[in-house]
Formats: sequence, structure tokens, C-alpha cells
Amino acid sequence: MLVHVARRMEESESVLTDADRATGDGDHGIGMARGFEAVRRELADCPADTVGELLDATGRTLLTSVGGASGILFGMFFRAGAAALGGRETFDADALRRFLMAGTAEVRKRGKAVPGDKTMVDALVPAAEAAAAAKGSLAAVLSAASEAARRGVDETKGMIARTGKARSLGERSLGHPDPGALSASLILAGMAEFVSGRD
Ligand code: ADP
Ligand code: MG
Repeated sequence: MLVHVARRMEESESVLTDADRATGDGDHGIGMARGFEAVRRELADCPADTVGELLDATGRTLLTSVGGASGILFGMFFRAGAAALGGRETFDADALRRFLMAGTAEVRKRGKAVPGDKTMVDALVPAAEAAAAAKGSLAAVLSAASEAARRGVDETKGMIARTGKARSLGERSLGHPDPGALSASLILAGMAEFVSGRD
């Protein structure tokens, strides 16, 4: 699943670049593509007994290879999410709920952004909440989480950035989606696609 997500993120480079050109400094697509290419290489050669180890390796790799605010925050997201899974050997619906809850809490703690600031938090919070409320299989819960993240990205278009590089744009950030929120929703969409066999 993580290898599929990594490929998807590499393919999304230009979409993410365009979003960050409109609201920031334009480096988000390059950073995420570089980071997930490194994740794909890391996972190809990563002996792991638990899902937490794979998710933690993903976070560590993002921390060292993405760069920018998002590299630190997505790195911490995966690492904190991984730490919440203990020694689990299966990534099931309950593991996903824990992963999203802990990862999102860490991003909020580290970045200090609140919902409405026009950041990745605006995709992660609704995704974690939707996962917590959703019932059923991993595929069903992932689909609810990824849908909620996608709606969260849409809502960022109507927000004026209050943190990060986009803050200096003020009202000029209106109408554009937040790039980090877009990345969060693409990560979840990639997970959902893989798990439901739609890749
Ligand atoms: P940089 O802003 O350093 O150029 P990127 O372009 O890679 O880094 O990432 C920008 C994204 O990072 C933003 O779209 C936003 O989602 C996210 N971001 C920046 N600062 C914060 C923060 N304090 N909390 C949460 N997310 C943030
Ligand atoms: Mg940037």
C-alpha cells in the first residue's frame, strides 16, 4: 500500500507544484516527489515485522528527504501514527483510526496550526474524524477518510492562509487549495485505491 501511495505522490508532482506556486514558493511538488521516491526505495529493502516499522521508516525517510515545513510535518505524522500501532502485524480499520488520530494530533502539536488556517490540518482533521466515525472494513473506513480529506481540500480554497509561507499572500491565497492539504488527501486516496483494489 505504501509503495502504491509513493508512486501516486511521485505522479502528483506537477499538481502539487501548481498549488504551491499559487499559494507559496512552489517547492512542495518537488519535495514530496523526491521524498516519496526515497520512501519507495527504502521500503523495497526494509525488513519489518510490524506495520508500525514500515510506517515509521516512511516517516523517517520523509523527514530527511522532503525538506520544507511539510517534510517535517508529514515525517512526524507518519512517525507518531506508527508509534500508536505498537506491535501490530495487521493494518486493519482500527489501526487506521489510531494511525490517523495520533498522526494528526502530532501535526497539530508541532505546527500549532488550527482548523481554518489553510494547512494540511484542514484535510487531516476531517479525515481522522471521519475514520473514527466510520464502521466496517479497512476499505470502507479508508474511503470515508479519503472523501473527508478531499472535501477538506475543497474548503481550503475559501480560506485565507494564517500560517506558513502562504500567510504573506493574505487574500491572494483565496480560491487556491492548500498544497499540504492536497498532499494529505492524495496520500489517503492512494491508500484507499490500493486497499479497495482500484489501483
Ligand atoms: P514550505 O512552506 O516550507 O515551502 P512546503 O511547500 O513543502 O513547505 O509545504 C507547504 C505546506 O506545509 C502548506 O501547504 C501547509 O499545508 C503545510 N504547513 C506549513 N506550515 C504548517 C503548520 N504550521 N502546520 C501545519 N501545516 C503547515
Ligand atoms: Mg513551499
